[in-house]
Amino acid sequence: MADGQEPAIDEVRARLAAARTVGLLSGAGISAESGVPTFRSGQVALWEDRRPEDLARMETFRQDPGLVWRWYLWRRGLVAKASPNAGHVALVELARRLELTVITQNVDGLHDRAGSTGVIELHGNLWRSRCMGCGRTRNDFSARLDVMPADCAHCRSPVRPDVVWFGEALNTTLLDRAFRTACVSDVFLVVGTSGVVQPAASLAAIARENGAFVVEINPEPTALSQVASVSLRGKAGEVLPALVA
Ligand code: NAD
Ligand code: ZN
Repeated sequence: MADGQEPAIDEVRARLAAARTVGLLSGAGISAESGVPTFRSGQVALWEDRRPEDLARMETFRQDPGLVWRWYLWRRGLVAKASPNAGHVALVELARRLELTVITQNVDGLHDRAGSTGVIELHGNLWRSRCMGCGRTRNDFSARLDVMPADCAHCRSPVRPDVVWFGEALNTTLLDRAFRTACVSDVFLVVGTSGVVQPAASLAAIARENGAFVVEINPEPTALSQVASVSLRGKAGEVLPALVA
């Protein structure tokens, strides 16, 4: 954690102590300390010379489903080796004290594995696949990581990862819940997100406009820093436990 932040940490603690409802938006940065790389750094940024923006889209999947699945199976492998970190765990403790709604852009399922409930997974979940014919989803958590997932058992159509790809719309029910959370939160925490992917940026702004005290937790300044009431410069795995200590 950067030096000289104790007064800001104390202020956020006091805001949390007085809050009834708290919203939290997390991004790839909250899982970085678990060893899951973010898109803008590390290996995920370039896999077999391909960029996430190319791999996570329907055009590529239609041309070469095997390529896209290999990338997702590799990412499942990374996440399978990872465990929730102190940041994920601190949120479970926070939820014992107040009404906390976790909204995540992450697809790794680590909030769930830490014990958070009711998580709004805006971008889907890496471990789920969805039938392209009948739309049924299935949990692949114990499926093999070295072969392409089997076709749908009901209609025999191919399956795709149940994640939101570039150019695809978010689930409107989940989005509505996320916006409602932003509207009613007394404190809104934004953790480990660069804020360049919508609707992350608008959720923080809407929370602020509706009177929330917006707290950014990120080692680096981001597009959301201007929206935040206060920015805590540090890692999620250090700052979040300090807030609930
Ligand atoms: P991003 O990669 O754009 O930004 C990550 C942010 O996390 C950066 O601002 C960085 O400064 C910050 N960060 C790095 N280490 C941190 C730490 N220890 N603690 C707190 N912050 C830290 O991520 P994004 O904003 O989530 O957007 C990228 C998109 O990529 C999302 O849509 C997400 O679905 C997807 N993605 C998900 C995962 C995952 O599920 N774990 C991983 C990579 C990408
Ligand atoms: Zn089907």
